[in-house]
Amino acid sequence: MQPRPSLDVVVASTAADTASTAPLVLLVLLLGLLVALVILVLVLRTRLGRRQRAAGELTAAVEKLLQGNLSADFSSSDPAEVGVLAQALERLRLSLRTAAGSRDYLSQVIASMSDAVVVTHLDGAIARVNPAAERLLGQAAAELRGQPLVNLVAPGQRSGFTLADPLARTRETAFLNGAGEEVPVAYAAAEIVADEPGAQGYVLTARNISERKVAEQRIRYLARIDALTKVPNRMQFQHLLQRAIARARRGDHRLALIYLDVDKFKEINDTFGHTAGDFCLETLTDRLRGILPDSSVVGRLAGDEFGVILDNLDPARNLRAEVVATTRLLQETIAEPLHYQGHQLYMTTSAGVALYPGDGNNVIDLIRNADAALCRAKRQGGGALDVYHADMNAATVERLMLKSRLRKAFEKNELRVHYQPKIDLRDGSIAGAEALVRWELTDRGIVLPSEFIPLAEESNMIVQIGEWVLDRVCSDYHRWQMTPVNPGRVAVNLSLRQLKQRDFISRVQEIYGKHGVSPANLELEITETTLMEDPTRTLQLLDELHNMGLQLAIDDFGTGYSSLSALQQFPISTLKIDQSFVRNATTNHDQATIVSMIIEMGHSLKLEVVAEGVETEDQLRFLRALNCDYAQGTLFGRAMAADDFRDLLRDQAGGAGRYRPLFARR
Ligand code: C2E
Ligand code: MG
Ligand code: MG
Repeated sequence: MQPRPSLDVVVASTAADTASTAPLVLLVLLLGLLVALVILVLVLRTRLGRRQRAAGELTAAVEKLLQGNLSADFSSSDPAEVGVLAQALERLRLSLRTAAGSRDYLSQVIASMSDAVVVTHLDGAIARVNPAAERLLGQAAAELRGQPLVNLVAPGQRSGFTLADPLARTRETAFLNGAGEEVPVAYAAAEIVADEPGAQGYVLTARNISERKVAEQRIRYLARIDALTKVPNRMQFQHLLQRAIARARRGDHRLALIYLDVDKFKEINDTFGHTAGDFCLETLTDRLRGILPDSSVVGRLAGDEFGVILDNLDPARNLRAEVVATTRLLQETIAEPLHYQGHQLYMTTSAGVALYPGDGNNVIDLIRNADAALCRAKRQGGGALDVYHADMNAATVERLMLKSRLRKAFEKNELRVHYQPKIDLRDGSIAGAEALVRWELTDRGIVLPSEFIPLAEESNMIVQIGEWVLDRVCSDYHRWQMTPVNPGRVAVNLSLRQLKQRDFISRVQEIYGKHGVSPANLELEITETTLMEDPTRTLQLLDELHNMGLQLAIDDFGTGYSSLSALQQFPISTLKIDQSFVRNATTNHDQATIVSMIIEMGHSLKLEVVAEGVETEDQLRFLRALNCDYAQGTLFGRAMAADDFRDLLRDQAGGAGRYRPLFARR
């Protein structure tokens, strides 16, 4: 716009100076006006052209945007020329690009996931699947789309299948793939919350767990079946006995328990070697199975000790005489000569018999009484048989006495809590402890918990003892915290009866609250059997405990009968491998397999794994090689008094960790 003022100045000064040159001035003035007009037209044309061009670019860019092309650039448009519209469009484009970028990114992530992802509409019909879901279900996305997802769940699993789980818990089910085969999966489902009704529905992620299932079955097999004779081991035998008793009770029939023990088995081993001993035990099992009806059970209870359950006996018959006759037949058959590497071997057995319900109406009593009969038979030399009768059992009297002494001891505050250190297997540091109750009798020495806890469990005493233990632990923990040591997390064993208490949660809360101990410093140990006793109620309880900040551990894992999938529903963070597996892990291939499988499975479920009963450096090396997380055992020390545990922690804090040398040697 510069030319106009300068022209005016020129015109004004020219008019003031010379009035005489008027015609010339007029001419110059006209010329000036003409020039100004030309310039004005030129300027206006330029501006108009630019504005038209900008509007054209804008239209083209909007067109591109509408076609989903997010590369159209609005930033070059002159904002002063096309107004705020261009700025707004540019912002819109950038935010669309971000959203589309995230969407593409998400799609890529979902497509590349190894877990199957299935998106359904609200009615459960499949809307989208990723390639992993196509592989898992053995069908292409196009075939899957529109099918109700529940139709792909194996018929036997449909009632337990759900997409609507507000907590999106991991569950297990089985899908049917395109070939009609069942594929076991772990899955979690969640609702898609969206304003737009078309976008609402569910998203399910699933993982094929066939391998884990096979491994789990193998663990269970190895844990229940005796590796040498392939018959149930002691644990499984007792479980089967329990079931047989329950059936007998319902069906009003009888059963017999026969205990057999090989006479002087040690001599066979010592004279002919262990392979000969093994051969004898295998032959014995075969012979037993050869005579007994299919409904009976044979189990190996210990090295040379076997059990037989005779099921479905008719109450109307003379059972005692019949069972005695069968047992004699078993003993005679076993006593027939055996041929081993050119040697002729003879094996005799002693036998004890107890009948249900006359000689005991529960597993514990029946076993104890068959055992008492066996003991008496053995005292007669070899090859004898004895049937239980009531006066045989001084042990019963002893038990009753012990029970009443336990009550008195508890009332007089004579029980103690000891702490067994839990060691971090990465570096040998103390990560916490397990609280174990102790009872010492002046005339008898230490009474083991395995002896008196079952007694306490028969009455409500275990509830009081359990509460007292937790109270002691919290009080000790509080004292330790006063000193500059970090006690880590302390585990307390829970019994089923405690969990059954109606106000269990509030009692636990009250105890740790009273001592000012954080629940995060406590772990509750529960056995598999306890967990599965009343899973629905237990789940609710454990959820509450977990939400309060307490950690939960499965104790004696491997000895129960639940499947990992059943255990998965509980908010568990720790798996403790039972010491019976750890004990022989370095010498017995099957036990080693069980331990390594449990560790692997535990880790795949994001659980910390603790090995119990570590006694040797070999076991320690073995567990460390398998990346087991923690260990307890006599290698690191038995359970000790609270002050001794504190001293141990102090040593560690002062740099003199007692277990470090064990970890220096790899
Ligand atoms: P658990 O919870 O599995 O405890 C581990 C047991 O293994 C303890 O036996 C411990 O002393 C023993 N142990 C630890 N390291 C080794 C080792 O290296 N070798 C061997 N052979 N054994 C080892 P304990 O103290 O006799 O307790 C036996 C069971 O009694 C416990 O098994 C637990 O189920 C129960 N129990 C102990 N204290 C309590 C309690 O306060 N409440 C309840 N409800 N049960 C308890
Ligand atoms: Mg325990
Ligand atoms: Mg245990």
